[in-house]
Amino acid sequence: MIHSNRRTFMLRVAASGSVLAAGQALAQVAAPKVQETEPQALALGYKEDTTKVDAKKYPKHADSQDCASCQLYQGKPKDAAGGCGLFVGKQVSAKGWCSAWNKKA
Ligand code: SF4
Repeated sequence: MIHSNRRTFMLRVAASGSVLAAGQALAQVAAPKVQETEPQALALGYKEDTTKVDAKKYPKHADSQDCASCQLYQGKPKDAAGGCGLFVGKQVSAKGWCSAWNKKA
């Protein structure tokens, strides 16, 4: 009886761990990328590729500025995309840029 309860407990722990891992993976996969045509992206001048930013419209922009080097970027250094404090629930390109760019400390 005790052996059976322990086995049941271990199976439940393993199952809940799998569900948590699957949930985290799904959350990462499910976060859509910000589209340049979205109203918020347009308002902030967001571009997926920092080299495509309109230099006339944003004269202070430099190609060395990208989301990966921005204070609001939440991705890891090697991630192609990650979260951003301004685009909640979405992902921005690590090579992207918007007019709210602020150098990471
Ligand atoms: Fe990229 Fe920073 Fe603009 Fe977010 S705030 S889109 S991380 S440049």
